[in-house]
Parts: sequence; structure tokens; C-alpha cells
Amino acid sequence: MADEEARGAERMEVSTELPQTPQRLASWWDQQVDFYTTFLHHLAQWVPEIYFAEMDPDLEKQEESIQMSIFTPLEWYLFGEDPDVCLEKLKHSGAFQLCGKVFKSGETTYSCRDCAIDPTCVLCMDCFQNSVHKNHRYKMHTSTGGGFCDCGDTEAWKTGPFCVSHEPGRASTAKENLRCPLNEEVIAQARKIFPAVIRYIVEMTIWEEEKELPPELRIREKNERYYCVLFNDEHHSYDHVIYSLQRALDCELAEAQLHTTAIDKEGRRAVKAGAFAACQEAKEDIKSHSENVSQHPLHVEVLHSEVMAHQKFALRLGSWMNKIMSYSSDFRQIFCQACLREEPGSANPCLISRLMLWDAKLYKGARKILHELIFSSFFMEMEYKKYFAMEFVKYYKQLQKDYISDDHDRSISVTALSVQMFTVPTLARHLIEEQNVISVITETLLEVLPEYLDRNNKFNFQGYSQDKLGRVYAVICDLKYILISKPTVWTERLRIQFLEGFRSFLKILTCMQGMEEIRRQVGQHIEVDPDWEAAIAIQMQLKNILLMFQEWCACDEELLLVAYKDCHKAVMRCSTSFMSSSKTVVQLCGHTLETKSYRVSEDLVSIHLPLSRTLAGFHVRLSGAVSRLHEFVPFEDFQVEILVEYPLRCLVLVAQVVAEMWRRNGLSLISQVFYYQDVKCREEMYDKDIIMLQIGASLMDPNKFLLLILQRYELADAFNKTISTKDQDLIKQYNTLIEEMLQVLIYIVGERYVPGVGNVTKEEVTMREIVHLLCIEPMPHSAIAKNLPENENNETGLENVINKVATFKKPGVSGHGVYELKDESLKDFNMYFYHYSKTQHSKAEHMQKKRRKQENKDEALPPPPPPEFCPAFSKVVNLLNCDIMMYILRTIFERAVDIDSNLWTEGMLQMAFHILALGLLEEKQQLQKAPEEEVTFDFYHKASRLGSSAMNAQNIQMLLEKLKGIPQLEGQKDMITWILQMFDTVKRLREKSCLIVATTSGSESVKNDEITHDKEKAERKRKAEAARLHRQKIMAQMSALQKNFIETHKLMYDSTSEMSGKEDSIMEEESTPAVSDYSRIALGPKRGPSVTEKEVLTCILCQEEQEVKIENFAMVLSACVQKSTALTQHRGKPIELSGETIDPLFMDPDLAYGTYTGSCGHVMHAVCWQKYFEAVQLTSQQRIHVDLFDLESGEYLCPLCKSLCNTVIPIIPLQPQRINSEDAEAVAQHMTLARWIHTILARISGYNMKHAKGESPTVPVLFDQGMGDSTLEFHSILSLGVQSLIKYSNSIKEMVILFATTIYRIGLKVPPDETDPRVPMMTWSTCAFTLQAIENLLGDEGKPLFGALQNRQHNGLKALMQFAIAQRITCPQVLIQKHLIRLLSVVLPNLKSEDTPCLLSIDLFHVLVGAVLAFPSLYWDDTVDLQPSSISSSYNHLYLFHLITMAHMLQILLTIDTDLPLVQVQEESEEARSASSFLAEISQYTSGCIGSGIPGWYLWVSLKNGITPYLRCATLFFHYLLGVTPPEELLTNAAEGEYSALCSYLSLPTNLFLLFREYWDTVRPLLQRWCADPALLNCLKQKSTIVRYPRKRNSLIELPDDYSCLLNQASHFRCPRSADDERKHPVLCLFCGAILCSQNICCQEIVNGEEVGACIFHALHCGAGVCIFLKIRECRVVLVEGKARGCAYPAPYLDEYGETDPGLKRGNPLHLSRERYRKLHLVWQQHCIVEEIARSQETNQMLFGFNWQLL
Ligand SMILES: [Zn+2]
Ligand SMILES: [Zn+2]
Ligand SMILES: [Zn+2]
Ligand SMILES: [Zn+2]
Ligand SMILES: [Zn+2]
Ligand SMILES: [Zn+2]
Ligand SMILES: [Zn+2]
Repeated sequence: MADEEARGAERMEVSTELPQTPQRLASWWDQQVDFYTTFLHHLAQWVPEIYFAEMDPDLEKQEESIQMSIFTPLEWYLFGEDPDVCLEKLKHSGAFQLCGKVFKSGETTYSCRDCAIDPTCVLCMDCFQNSVHKNHRYKMHTSTGGGFCDCGDTEAWKTGPFCVSHEPGRASTAKENLRCPLNEEVIAQARKIFPAVIRYIVEMTIWEEEKELPPELRIREKNERYYCVLFNDEHHSYDHVIYSLQRALDCELAEAQLHTTAIDKEGRRAVKAGAFAACQEAKEDIKSHSENVSQHPLHVEVLHSEVMAHQKFALRLGSWMNKIMSYSSDFRQIFCQACLREEPGSANPCLISRLMLWDAKLYKGARKILHELIFSSFFMEMEYKKYFAMEFVKYYKQLQKDYISDDHDRSISVTALSVQMFTVPTLARHLIEEQNVISVITETLLEVLPEYLDRNNKFNFQGYSQDKLGRVYAVICDLKYILISKPTVWTERLRIQFLEGFRSFLKILTCMQGMEEIRRQVGQHIEVDPDWEAAIAIQMQLKNILLMFQEWCACDEELLLVAYKDCHKAVMRCSTSFMSSSKTVVQLCGHTLETKSYRVSEDLVSIHLPLSRTLAGFHVRLSGAVSRLHEFVPFEDFQVEILVEYPLRCLVLVAQVVAEMWRRNGLSLISQVFYYQDVKCREEMYDKDIIMLQIGASLMDPNKFLLLILQRYELADAFNKTISTKDQDLIKQYNTLIEEMLQVLIYIVGERYVPGVGNVTKEEVTMREIVHLLCIEPMPHSAIAKNLPENENNETGLENVINKVATFKKPGVSGHGVYELKDESLKDFNMYFYHYSKTQHSKAEHMQKKRRKQENKDEALPPPPPPEFCPAFSKVVNLLNCDIMMYILRTIFERAVDIDSNLWTEGMLQMAFHILALGLLEEKQQLQKAPEEEVTFDFYHKASRLGSSAMNAQNIQMLLEKLKGIPQLEGQKDMITWILQMFDTVKRLREKSCLIVATTSGSESVKNDEITHDKEKAERKRKAEAARLHRQKIMAQMSALQKNFIETHKLMYDSTSEMSGKEDSIMEEESTPAVSDYSRIALGPKRGPSVTEKEVLTCILCQEEQEVKIENFAMVLSACVQKSTALTQHRGKPIELSGETIDPLFMDPDLAYGTYTGSCGHVMHAVCWQKYFEAVQLTSQQRIHVDLFDLESGEYLCPLCKSLCNTVIPIIPLQPQRINSEDAEAVAQHMTLARWIHTILARISGYNMKHAKGESPTVPVLFDQGMGDSTLEFHSILSLGVQSLIKYSNSIKEMVILFATTIYRIGLKVPPDETDPRVPMMTWSTCAFTLQAIENLLGDEGKPLFGALQNRQHNGLKALMQFAIAQRITCPQVLIQKHLIRLLSVVLPNLKSEDTPCLLSIDLFHVLVGAVLAFPSLYWDDTVDLQPSSISSSYNHLYLFHLITMAHMLQILLTIDTDLPLVQVQEESEEARSASSFLAEISQYTSGCIGSGIPGWYLWVSLKNGITPYLRCATLFFHYLLGVTPPEELLTNAAEGEYSALCSYLSLPTNLFLLFREYWDTVRPLLQRWCADPALLNCLKQKSTIVRYPRKRNSLIELPDDYSCLLNQASHFRCPRSADDERKHPVLCLFCGAILCSQNICCQEIVNGEEVGACIFHALHCGAGVCIFLKIRECRVVLVEGKARGCAYPAPYLDEYGETDPGLKRGNPLHLSRERYRKLHLVWQQHCIVEEIARSQETNQMLFGFNWQLL
């Protein structure tokens, strides 16, 4: 292959030798007669040359050749002059009216809910940001690709159709150019060129011959070079393709991967080049390797190289055309004309249609370019868009059929363009009028659906293919697009065509009416659940289309009546079988109904009745036209009983399913019944069936209607005679059926919240839905929205009304905002709201009763007065007072009173009460409106009349009185009372109205009601009070018990309460409560005593208690050691991947990487912990896939709180020390700093000599020999006081070593080695860093140093410091001495080792901690183990601290920021004066490097601010080291007292400069040495990297308030590694603000031989492996740790309803919640990210599977 490529290159050179300038070529073309032939000839010459090296092309060179030899000449030819000049001119004039930006998959689009005509109208990011909609109620969505920006389309927007950049008049600067018509010549040229171009593109694109070119292009000698080309499909997985290629081509994995990626992206690719036979063989190989039982082989073709070349170039030419057209509207129009021109005398469609028709056969890459071509030509010119739409509709059927049998996604099918045309209102109207598009679409459906038709011509989707049917939905969707905007003007033609479309649509509904019939299974359970999803899915798809058809028809009375007639006819036609069936007769209390015999429980039944329901929809829209209905549907044809029949069957089916009569029919029926009533379907299923029954009730005789209901519910017998059965199941079944029937009766009479049924508006309907949802419980916005039906524009109308009925309650730091119902809306609660599910119903009832109880009200929940029926439905109320209804009610009450009867339930009674209440309310309303004699509604009369069925029958009122007395019905008492009062009220209204003083009587009766009411109220109140007192008493007892419990289990309680308080884990608890009068000074001779308490701890594992003592077995705290960048001053500083060579003794002042030790504060016996850990190891070995934690590195979850831990800290009690004041005075006599230093130096030199004897001196120490003082010798240090070494138990020592090794291993990322000399260094380092981190956190939160620590932090620090003391003893003392000498060399005069770092390159707090902890090693002797006595260590601490503090002061002053404007002038204080003079002195030593002339007050303020964190850290350190109680001021939040309290605790003068004065002689040489250090001067010069004090406090990056700003940022993001425009997942690092390209191969990195994603790689350096990212496109936060762990975390962005929106599913505008962002910040600063991840992984174990490594 290689030499073939070479030959290609060679030939290229030969051809390019022909001296042809583009200009000359263009003029040569000009002389030719037929441009097309000339053009083809030219292409035939060039294209195969340029595209020769298909397998491994040099893309840059290829592009250059195309430009040179084809495009530039073409452009010269087009413009007649230099194209660059010309295009530049055109650019300024090309102000489009439309934006037309085509969306790529993943791009964010915006729609405006206030202004968009429909939700398909969208804006691109740029247009949106520049539009008025930015401040409207917009929605954000993620494009699936293929759509385009509608900015500038006046039909798409009600207001603000233009953004600022697309506003027509905007280009005022280039006004003269605005219309800039191209000159005549260019237009003439374009007319010549464009047709040729498009023709070539079309010819080549649809060229089918694999081995030959079209004759016009066959001018060269044919070569023998072929390609084996592989096409992409949607069936084979990536891996399968790779596998097949590797096998077939015998190639490397990488090559196969490369091919596969390219195929997935482009749609096809040459995978092999060579002779025909070789390619053919490869083809067969690939096919056979990719084929298996379940899969077709891959699509492979062998193409001749020249065919391939021309096809490739055709697409490139398409892109060129796109570019040219973007310059001028004229170009676009000429191009469109060329595309639309039909060849005279040819039967072929025009060129663009030929392309469309070929679409389904094309591969992905080609389709994309051709669709773009359509977007940039036709869709940019309204006129031509129309022509295109007409062509599209002309071939619609074919296109859809091709799409349905195609396997590519819809987003890359030409059929997806329909939304761009059909949703444009004028276009839609035009297409209906001119091309009858509704019929076209419905007929297409009718043609593609027959494969699902059964022999009755009904659909049946058993065994359907989801993919195929999914494609059919797309056609249904087109119907929605066409109907989405209702016409405002109806022309005669529109009317005719629309009706024709509607009739055609009825044909589809006819196939659905009664489809998928089922029969009740008796005996055996069905074997397989039938497919039900397809039919329900179609129902969902159709819901809004059905509604829109109804809306369209309702625009025009005539139209509505005609449509009604057609629909009615269709229903009747579907009911013929029913009409011909046999008859039966039902009789009850003197009423007779003759009806067809049919039983739901035996005969076939279907829940799909779109025709009936459409008819119901028409009926409610009739209003006034109802009077003309008979003109269209004659009375004799109307047959309301038949219309009611089918919906009634459906409702009966539901009742029988509830009664478990259909349980043998499996789950599929349950699901169908669920969807029948679910919000996604109910509008066009359940709701319409209720309406149809209401129509029946309004038109039929009420008694006959009820008889029909009884008959169909199969309950006629149950009411006709007393059924005496002992079969409990049967009784239960009857009872359920009666309940279901009563409910439906309540709905028929009571549900009037449908415009057209009752006098209500749409808003009132929505409001009522919301009220009932919120009666269940307060709900977030999204939950309410989910429970409301969406209209065709995906709107629920929720926002318009919600504030009238509910109040919004804001969310806290977590959770979401909720709406709570307003009190005044509670009265609208209807217990039998027809959209309640069973559980919702009982929840709501429970809630409302509870509420009323709490308010001391009665528990009656009568129905709210319903709105009035519309005239057409007014007769429905007659159901209430008809004989049969009275009979039903009386029967139920009688059964309830009868002790022997069990054919009743409390629920049934409640419903009967409800119906009674409805009847009484109705009569009351009527009486209040009209004079008594006109009100014929006589519910009261009927209910109080004696029954006729039996001689001893009682009237209903009497029955109620009886029921009231039944103790089991206590719960119903209030409701019965309410009804009886209502009886009274109505009675009074009847009576009083005769006296014509109806108004007063009304109020009187109310008064009467009130009196009884008040009485009951008082009684109730008394009871409630008694109950309250009783409760109080019990509570008091309880809390006493509780207190006791807490006392005895204090530790347990603390820890558990902390766990449950995950919300806000900061426990505001006093950490050191002991108050004493002792000195509160930690250092020096005045040191206060250590306050220690006997510590008895309980092991969380064995629950045994044990006192912590040094001689006992160890107890341990679970702990986690982690690397941290929380304090870094230099984010992103490269981290050493392995710490093999790092010397961690000195910490860099930028604190870039520290080692943090945290603990969850839970205590275990060391032994128990070891057992537990071993057990975890064992179980985890069995769990293969769940690698929650890394056992290898000692990870485990805390057994109690499930925090991630990787080690334990031994708990060692503090050794109390007390200074004897006499000793102190004695020592104070001669213990000056100078003397102390001498003593130490003598000791050090003594050691040096000792060691020098044996081995070579290990520590190079320089001495000023003159210092030698004969009185001070090696042992003088001991004279200051010594004591013997503490003896720790072996168990403790073991744990100390274990923990120290863990710190070393994790801190340095090295394998464990307990003998490594760096182990103690890491101990000191983690102590210092942990203290700094906690100090920083406390400062960040504005909390006092002591008293605000969480328990876990307090316990952790205490254990850590005491461990650090003990750690020294487990090491060789010589080693500690070595380290100590290096540390001391920083601050001791006359001691300097060669590697002593310069003062500015170390963190002095780390030096302090190290030096203090290592210092006792100077007391070590070969023979006895000694350590300093209390008094000596107090001096040691004091002087070490003073020396280091002075060094730190110098650090601060040297790095002071002098660039700040010094406007503020303060009074000169003593401190300020000291500062000035000190700096003047220093200035001399630095040879002027540090500028004098800085005002003294500024120096002092800066010093004080700079040194405070250090002092706070030191205070924490000494407190936990020594246990000396800190001053009171540090326990409270008083910032003023803090500084002096710190100074007093640390034995410092408040004017810190006095230190220098006091020790001047000793310190001066030091100052000189520090300042003269050339390294220091060097540091000072590098201003950018210098660390200033106080160090800046880290926080997460600033985020914009408006989330769309972030999306905007993301849209501008370009992957740094790849140039393609594939979908990217930009991710924002919240530590540093970097935007990364995540989850993409392009940006993967290799770390230690493993591939890791861009984020994980970034986290390694940015956060030492721990990081917080925001996935911008998804609005999700992710926390990551290490290579393989991470978790999702809610983003800090909320919509106006206080909800997050992961994945931007809802798309509401989002704004930053500062509180939540702050919380995230604290998670980071508290070092809880790892813990958060571990917890979330523990809870989401099942969903675990995301490959975090590649993030
Ligand atoms: Zn745009
Ligand atoms: Zn725009
Ligand atoms: Zn708007
Ligand atoms: Zn234990
Ligand atoms: Zn724990
Ligand atoms: Zn970062
Ligand atoms: Zn990338």
C-alpha cells in the first residue's frame, strides 16, 4: 500500500506542473459554450488526483489543492474579479434577517414561554443573550441536533422576533449596502454555475454504480484501485464492529478503533484499499465476522477509488456552496430555483426532491451536509421554504416510509425537517389548503399501520417492534405540528380541506375504537401478559392531537356540527354488533329498562374508545349550537344509550379490576387501567368517559339511566333482593363494586369542572387541580407540574394561578421549596375529587381531618358547593332525587343499621353521605335563587318521605339519626350531624319562603346552627385541653427518662446525633468546659496547670467501657489521612506523583500540598478494630465488583457512621504537668535566652563530637568557635531539670507506629516503611497542617478559636497531638536529633547547616511544631531515658516559640505588600513607632532591598493581621499539647479581645516588637544572617510567587448568578486537543475555574500507565486528587477522589421554585444559591469530600457502575 501512496503523490506533481492560474482557468471557462460539460471535465481531471490517498490522506494538502485547482477558479469565474475582495465586500452587506444557526447535538437552545408561538421555536445562545426574552420566562433545553435558530422569523414569536444582531434596521452603518443587489454579471454567472454545481452534487450523491463513474466523468484511463467501505448502522455495538474489523483485516486494536470511531462519526469509511478481488474478500470477511444469530452482517461495499473520490468531493462542494450562499440572498434564491427546476420532458422529480428521496439510503456524513445545504438555502428564504415544503409534502408518504424502514436516528433523517415547516402558521395553513397535508399525513399513517390491523380492521400491536412503531410516532407528531397553531381566519377552502383531513383522521380512530379487546380470564391465569405499551403510547401521542382537532372545530359552529355529525356516524358504525345483540329487562321500584344483554365480566371489552371520546369532546364544545344539533344528527339517529354504552363499560371494567375480578388477566390490564386514569392520558380517556355519562344523564330519564348503570355494574341483583351469602370474598367483591359505582355517580353529579359542562374557566379548572394536590401535602413546583396535564405547548397553566391558591415556602440549605395551600382555599376541598388515586384520596382525607382536629373543628368533610351546570347539562342533577337513587341510598343506610347485614362498608356510607350532601346543597342553592314554588328539585321531600318498597320502611332522615347512635360509626358522627343540620336548613328555606321573608329565616337558621355549633365547640375545647395536659405530663416523664439515657450513653449519643444531623453537622458544643482560676498561660515559668479529666470511653464495636491510660490496651479513633490543597497559595502547582525523593521536613510557605488527618470521632478498642478490619477484608473479597474502598491501602468505613477511614489514631491520655513555683523562680534566675541557646548549642556540639568518633558526622553543623563557654558543657542541659520517660504500653506503641506509618505512606505516596527517617517528619507535618486547616476553617466561618469546634475535630486534634508526643519515642533518638538540628538551624544563631533553607521559603508554624515535638530528644542519653521536667520544657517552649515568632515577624515585614494605596492615616501608636524603627534597622541589613518609608501604623496593622493566623495556630497547638485552659476571650466570638488573649496565652508582649528589644543582642546576628542570605534576596525579587501574610483564604471560584451565563461559557468552549465539532462535555473545576473536556478520548492522559480522563488528571494537580467539578451542560456537581471514586452532588443552582434541575430536564431559569454554594465550600474546607463520596457510594451501591477514571 505504501508504494501505491507514493505513486499517487508523484502523479500529483506531474499534474500541478500545468501552469494554470485560477484566473486564467476562469476566463477559459468563460469561452466555453456549455459550462456543465466543461466543469465536469475539469473535475474529472482533478478530483481523482486530489482524493487519491483515501486511506491515509494529508488533509491539509488535500484542502489546499481543492482550493487552488477548483474553488478559487470557480469563484473567479463567478465574480469576474478577485473573489477575496468581492466576498469581503459582500460580507458587510449580508445582514440576514434570519439567524438560521443549525444546532449540533448537545447545544443549549432557549425558548420563551411568554413569546414563542410554540415550544419548537428556539433561539441559539447568542441570539438569546441578545434578545428581550432573556428577562422573560424562558426554558433551556439541550438540542438533539438538527434544529435551527428561529431568530428573525416573525412567525415564530409573538413579540421580540429579532435579537439585537438580527434586527433588520440595525446595520445602519452600511445602509447603502443593505439590499446590496449583486451586479447583473455576477447574477448571470451564478445562474450558470449553481445549476451545474447542484447537478453534480446530486448526480454523485445518488450514484449507485460501484465500479463505474458516469460517462461524462470517465475521461481517464481506469485504474485498478478499489476500496472496501464499511457503513455504520444502529444495530452493531462499537465493540462488535471493532472485533469484526480486527478479525477480518487482521489489524491492531488501535487501527480498528480508529476506523470504528470514524465510521460512527462519518457514517462510512474505507477500511482497505487494493485490487477488486482483495477488497471483495475483505468485504466478505467483515460480513461473516459481524453476522450472528441475532444480527445482520455489517453493511460493506467495494467502491472504485474514483467513485469514492467524486462522492467525497461532491460533499465538499456542498459545503462550499453553503459558504457562498451565506453571502447573499440572491445566491440563495438562484440556488433554490436551480434545485426546484424540473427537467423538461423528464418524469424525474426536481433535484432537491431527488436528494430528499435518496436521503434514507445515504450515510450519516452525507446527510448532514445535505441537510445543512437545505437549511442555508431554502430555510433562509421564506418564499422558497414554502416551495420546499410543497415538495416535501408531495413526497411525504415515500419519505416517511423510507424513514420507517431505515435504521438511522430521526435526527439525521430528512423527515425531521417537518417541524421547521409544519409549525410555521402560514405555511401550515397553506399546506392544508393547497396540498391537503392533514389527509396526506393521516393517509401515510393508514398506509404504514396496516401491518398492525387484525381481521376486524382494528389495530393490534401484539409482538410489535418498538423501534418501528417509534418511527410511526414521528408521523403522528407531524400531525401535532400542523395543528399546533389554530387558524384565526377560516377560508372556505381551508374549511373543506380541514374537514377532509378530519374525516381521514376519523378512519384512524375507527381502527382504534375498540382495539385490543380483552375478556375476563376465569379459572386459569393467562400465560403471557399481552403487549399493552404500544396502544397506550399511541393514546398518549394522540391526546393533544385529539384535543387540537376539537379546538379547531370549535372555532366555527358550522364546522363543529359537521364534524360532530361525522364523528357520531363513525361511533354508530362501530356499534353495529352491539345493536344487533339480544335484549334483557331490568326492573326496580316500579321502573323498567329494556336493554341489550351484555356483561363486562363475560364479554369482550376494550378501553380504547377514541371515537366516543372525541364525540364527548365535541359535545361539551357545542354550547349554543346544541339547539341546531338535530339538523345534523336527527333525534331518531342520536341513540344516546348506545353512545353511553362503551364508556360505561370502561368504567365498569375499572371497578371490576379494583374488585380483583380480573386478577387472572395479569399485570398488563392493571397497567392499562393505571394509564387510563393517569395524567398523561386521562383527558382523552377517563375524563371523557365521565363526560359521556354526564351527557347520558342529561338526556336520558334519570331512573332509566340509573337502571342502566346498575345493570352494567352487574349490581341490579345486589339491590333488588337481599343477598344472603356467607361467601366473604363475594361480599367483598359486591361491596367494592357498589363503592366504585357510588363514586362514579358522585362524579357524574358533582364534577362540573370542565368548561362546557359547568360554568367554569380553564383557570378555575387548573386552580382546583392544584388545590386538591396541595390538600394531600405541600408540594414542590415540579411535583405539581407533573400531576397536571400538559397542553400541546407543554404548558400546564400552573404559574398563572398558583399564587391565588398557595404560598411558596423557600427551601433551606438542602431540600426544595414547596407550595402550601392558602387557608381560604381549604374550603374547596372535595374528598371525592375524581382525579385522586385511591392512595391520594385517603392521604388527603387523613390530612384534612387531622387539620380540622388541630383547629378544634368538627371532622365533617362535606362537598364544597359545586358550580352550576351549563344549560345543556342542567338535567343531570335530577339523578339525585330520582326514585332509584333514593332507593339506593335507603338500601345502604338500612343495611348499615341492620346488625345482620354485611353488605355495606364505612366507605360506602361516606359516599352515600356525600350524595345526600350534594342533593341538599343543590336544593338549597336552587331555593336561594328562585321562589320556592318554582323549585321542582325536591330532594328534601323525597329523602324525608317514607319508602315504598316495604311497609315498615323508614325515611332517610330517621335512618341517619339511627346511624348516629352506632358506636362503630363514631368517625362519621360529625358528617351525619352536618347533614341533619342541612336537612333543617333546607326545610326552613322551604317553610320560610312561604312567608316571603326568606332572607331572615336563612340567617336565623344559621344562627341556630351556630348555637349548637358553639356548644359542641366548647365541649371539644374542654376535651382538647384535658388531652393536652395529659400529653404534657407524659412528655415530662419521657424527657426525664431521655436525659438519664443521654447521661449514661453520652458518647454514643453525641456520635449518633452528629450522624443524624448530617444537614448541618457543625455541633456547637463547648470543647473545653472546665473553668478554673488557674493561670491561663501556656508557655514559660508562669505556665498554668494541665487540665485533665479521667477519660472513660466506650468502644463502638463491643460496647465495653474502658479508661484511657498509658499502661492499658490501646483505644483508637477511626481516622482518615488525606493529601490536601485546601490551603494552597499556588493552585495547580505540579505535584510529585511519588514522594520517594521528597524531603518533607520543611513546608513550603505556599502550603500547596499538606497532609490532613481527620476523624469522625468514633472510639474502638484497637483489638476490636483489628478484628473488624479483618472481617471487612474477608467479606470484601467475596464481593467482587463492589470496590467501594481500597482495602490494599487500609481503607474501611467507620462501623458507626460509615465515614471513609484509612487508619486509626491511638488515644493517649495527656500527662498532667504542674510547675512548682519555687523551682520556677530558681530557674528563672539564670535562664536567659542567651544562656539557653548556649546550653543547647553545647549539647548539640557534644553530640556531634560523640558521633564524630564513631562514624562520620551525620549532621554538618557550623559553629562559631568563639562561642565556646567552658562552664557550659554537654550535660548542663540536664541541670535544668529532667524526669524519666513515660512508659507506654506495647499495645499503644504498636498503634503509634501503625498510624505514623500510614501518615508517611499517604502523605508521601510511597510504600509503607516504618523505619524510614521521614516517618517522624510526616507526623509533625500532619500535626501542623491539620491545625492550620482547622484554624483557617474557624476563621472562615467567623467562629471563636475554642468553643466552636465540632466534637470530632476536638477529639481528633487531642488524639493527634498526644500521639505526636509519643511518636518520638518509637524512633531512634539520633534520628530525631538530626531532624531537630536542621529545624533549629533556622532560628539559632551560630548554627547553620548547609541545607538550611532561606527564611522566605519555609512555613514557620511547621518549624515550630517540629521543633517543639522533637526537642525532648536533646535530653536523650545512652544510658538513661530522660525527658525535660515541666519547668525545663516550659522554658524550651517559650524560647523556641519566641525565636520562631520573631522569624515569622521578619517574614511578614519582608513580604509586606507596599503596592497598596496608603490613604488611611492612623494615630501614631507605640507599636507603630517600634515598627518604624525596627524596619529602619532591617533595611540596613538588606542593603535597601526592603523599602523604608512605609508608615509605621501600616507596618503594625499589616504585622498584626499577618501574624494572627500563626498565633491562633500556635494557641491551638499548645493547648492540645499541654492541656492548659485558654483565656475566656478565645471561647467567645469577640474579635477585639482575641489578639491580646492570644498574646497572653502565648506569653508574648502585645507590642510584639518588644521581643526584639528584649533579646536584641542575641537576635541581631540572626537578623543579619537571615537578611543577608542571597537566597532570600532572590525570593524577594520574584514578586509573583512570593507568599504574603496573612495567606489568602481559599474559596470556590465565583459563579455567575444566572446559569445561562455558564452555558454561554460552555458553548464557547473548544476542546484543546481536537478540532472536530462533536458534542463535548465541558466541565468546570470549582477550585480553579479551569474548563475541561471530560468523558472524551481526545483529552485522556496516561498516568502510571493507566488512561485517565481530563478531570481526574486535572484533579491530581489541582486538588491532590480531590476535586469538585460542575458539569456545565447537565448542571450537576461531581466530587471526585483519586482515580476511581466520585459521586454526584446537587448543583448550587435553583429555579425560582427552589428546586435543582439535574440534566436540565425542566429547563427553568436557574440562579445561584449562595447558601448552597457556601455549604459546598465548607464540605471542601472541612475535608469532607472523601466522606461525602464514600457515603453516597455506600447508599447507591446498586447504581454503581460509572467509570470515574475516565471523567
Ligand atoms: Zn441564532
Ligand atoms: Zn438573532
Ligand atoms: Zn419572550
Ligand atoms: Zn471493643
Ligand atoms: Zn464514625
Ligand atoms: Zn482546578
Ligand atoms: Zn477533548
